[in-house]
Amino acid sequence: MIQPDLSEFIRTIPDFPQPGIQFKDITTLLKHGPSFRQAVQTFIDRYQELHLDAIVGIESRGFLFGAPLAYQLGVGMIPVRKPGKLPAETFRMEYQLEYGTNTIEIHRDALLPGARVLVIDDLLATGGTAAATCALIEQIGGQVVELAFLIELTFLQGRDKLRGHPIFALIQY
Ligand code: AMP
Repeated sequence: MIQPDLSEFIRTIPDFPQPGIQFKDITTLLKHGPSFRQAVQTFIDRYQELHLDAIVGIESRGFLFGAPLAYQLGVGMIPVRKPGKLPAETFRMEYQLEYGTNTIEIHRDALLPGARVLVIDDLLATGGTAAATCALIEQIGGQVVELAFLIELTFLQGRDKLRGHPIFALIQY
């Protein structure tokens, strides 16, 4: 079967949400069934032998890929969320953005000690969000096996912030 080139289904919106940002819109991939399935299936093929204990998805677009992957692998799905969304006790991590800061949270009891975890999000940009997620996972005793993204913006060098964790991206710009 001929596989579609997934990058053809990503739409770039200039100056969204602010001037100077080239926003990678994945809704055009999500609405094309064969491409969405191909993206998820590529993650499934890569991770089904890795003996993961959980998928950690980053709010909110990380959930779109993390949930079907966790379902298919038969492992738990752990949400990392914006502040004030998780109801039980959390750890939170503040990190630097280009302008200002951002904060994310995880439930303190989200993982068992030593749990082998895959982190997933739609896009790796500067790496701040993913690095903060790794720090939270390690704080609650988990072990980050790899980070997976639909898209990596390589020119922003987000990998450098991820301290040698393995990274997998389906599409690179
Ligand atoms: P960063 O922490 O800089 O790696 O930013 C990653 C987060 O911001 C991801 O959750 C992305 O969804 C979002 N993001 C950053 N830059 C873009 C972009 N150019 N297009 C779409 N989403 C982006």
